[in-house]
This record gives sequence, structure tokens and C-alpha cells, in this order.
Amino acid sequence: MTAKPRILTGDTPTSTGLHLGHYVGSLENRLALQEQYDSYFLIANVHAFTTMADKPEQIRANTIGIIKDWLAVGLDPDRSTFVLQSEIPAIAELTFFFAMLIPFNKVMRNPTLKTEIETKGLGDSYPFGFPMYAVGQCADILAFRPELVPVGEDQEAHIEMCRDVALKFNQQYCGVGNRVPAAEHVQAGGLFPIPAAKVGRVARLAGIDGTNKMSKSLGNAIFLYDSAKDVQKKLNKITTGRQSPNEPGDGNNVLMQYVDAFIAGGDPARAAEIKRRYVAGDNLGDGHVKAELGEAINRLLEPMRARRATLDGPAGDQRVMEVIAQGVKRANVVAEETLTLAKKAMKADFVHRTIG
Ligand code: ATP
Ligand code: MG
Repeated sequence: MTAKPRILTGDTPTSTGLHLGHYVGSLENRLALQEQYDSYFLIANVHAFTTMADKPEQIRANTIGIIKDWLAVGLDPDRSTFVLQSEIPAIAELTFFFAMLIPFNKVMRNPTLKTEIETKGLGDSYPFGFPMYAVGQCADILAFRPELVPVGEDQEAHIEMCRDVALKFNQQYCGVGNRVPAAEHVQAGGLFPIPAAKVGRVARLAGIDGTNKMSKSLGNAIFLYDSAKDVQKKLNKITTGRQSPNEPGDGNNVLMQYVDAFIAGGDPARAAEIKRRYVAGDNLGDGHVKAELGEAINRLLEPMRARRATLDGPAGDQRVMEVIAQGVKRANVVAEETLTLAKKAMKADFVHRTIG
């Protein structure tokens, strides 16, 4: 066992790959943190069934695609642990126990779930398992007892729920007093550290529709594996309502958000200049901004595309299978340990079992 503090974060395989929102919202943080932290990166393939239960082949292909993107971005399966949710039984078991610690109405009031129901058009016919995923996510996280969870802003409500579960568990089953501050729960005998969300450089990147969060499921994403041509095509589709290069532009519209996200890091002076001229209506058209954004985004994506290309085809799929097997083995050691300790605290430990 390593002494490094742990982080856990993950992605749901609802699409064949990851997008720019993932990169600035979470992947960048993962890359930076995988050095100092014992990192767990989880593919929530069980949760993909909440909206895609009729498409199992697609979920499988998406799982493989996202792991290829992780490798292409630079997440390292030797230093970090890649966790495939469906192969970690302790997560499912903890989900059931944790469901007893969260009031039903609180789950149903979770703002992230509400937004998802609306934007994904789930109406009132979504399965029982859909709201259940919010409880499951508490188990995804707590199974690994991390201190930090690098996520986008949309996940903050979920992390808050996860903190509530950890606090309640520690108080109810580990004898931690109600007044013990969250940071001191483990010293006070609690099983779970109370995890904190770590939101990325860009908390919420808008999609090319200009309004919603960039999202795999909403058809408004620029994917990390999109070709240079497709990136430019997608940028060109953005509409801001601006009529001419001399019309003062909105400094917070989606194009300006992208300037902040993709130009300001490498060339802050140029980003400031673009924003100044855009807002002033100083002869800077949307088309010009889109072309500069295309160049900057493609510079960022090119090395990832090149690495992703080396994982194409059956040899790449085989590599992913190896990475999954290696990660699942390591993840089950930690998750089983957590489950054993949790069951002990809950007086529900009767027989010792081993997995793997
Ligand atoms: P879905 O549409 O299926 O919910 P998604 O695009 O929201 O997919 P997730 O797998 O749900 O992607 O999210 C993975 C991680 O990326 C989460 O930490 C989430 O907060 C972050 N993330 C997703 N989209 C964005 C975004 N547009 N801006 C910043 N962070 C994001
Ligand atoms: Mg999401």
C-alpha cells in the first residue's frame, strides 16, 4: 500500500470518446495530479445503462474508446489505476448500503439530476436506476476512500451528496461525533475521509450550441479525436447573432469562453487583444476568431490524435483489455478492503471472502 493521498474521478461511456469539456474540466487536473496522488480513474459503464440500456454493444465500444482517449491524453495505467465499474462488486454492494443513508427526496432534488432529465429529454419515463446512479456515484468514490475528486462544476452536487454519505456513515457506524469537523473524521475513527471536489481550470465549458454544457449526449461536443477539419467545421457552426466585425461583441459568449480556455493559456497577450477588439467591435469578425481558435485547439489535439491513432484496430483493443485487467485487479484489492471495513462497522460481516 502506498502512502500517497488518493484521488478518484471518472467518465461515463455514453459516447465513443471524450471532448474538450472533459479536457479543461477534468483531464488536465488528472494529468497534473497523477504524479503526486495515488490516482483511480473510473469508467462508469454500469451508469451508462441508465440512459442506454438498449445499446449494450455501444456501451462496450464507448468503454474501449474512452480508455483509448485516456491513454492518448497521457493517463498512465502503470502509475494510476484504471477502474472498470462493472468488475468491482464492492461498488454495487456499497451502493445498496449507502442508499439507506440518503433521503429519497434529497436524491430527487439533486440539481444535476434535474438538469440531466431536462437536457437529455428523459421526461418522466426514466428508469428507477437513473436517480439511483447518484447514490452509485457515492459508492464509486468512497470505495477508494479518496481525498480529492477532480470534476467539472456539474458534478459538485454529486460530490456534496457523497460527502453527506461519508459524514453520516462515519457518525452512524464509526462513532464519530456530530461536531467533529469533516477534515478530522479519519483521526476521530471514521472509515471514510470526507472527499473534496477539485474543479478544473474551466468549470463548465459551453458546447457549440452556445448555451448548454458541452456534453457527450447533447450533440454539441468537439471530441478529442475529431479531425482537424471537423474541429474547424464544428467551430464554424457556432452562431453568436453578431452581424459584422464592427458590431460590439459579447465578451462572455461561447467564442470568448473558448478564447479563454484555449488561447489564453498559451498566449495571454493575444487572448486579451482578441477580447478587447471583439468587445469594442474593432474590426474582428467571428470568422477570424473561429479560425484562430481552430488553430489553437488543433495544436492542443494533434499529439493526442497521433497517440490515439497508434491504438486503432485489434492491437489497440487488445492493449485496452490488458489495461482493464491490470486496473480491475488493483482496484478490487482496495474496494474489497473498504467493503470489508464498512461491513465490519455495520456489524454485517459474517464470512471472509476473496476476489480475483
Ligand atoms: P453525459 O452527457 O453522458 O453526462 P458528459 O459529457 O457530461 O456526458 P461525463 O462522463 O458525465 O461527461 O463527465 C465526466 C467528467 O467531465 C465530469 O467530471 C464532468 O464534470 C466533466 N465535464 C463534462 N463536461 C464538462 C464540461 N462541458 N465542462 C467542464 N467539465 C466537464
Ligand atoms: Mg455528465
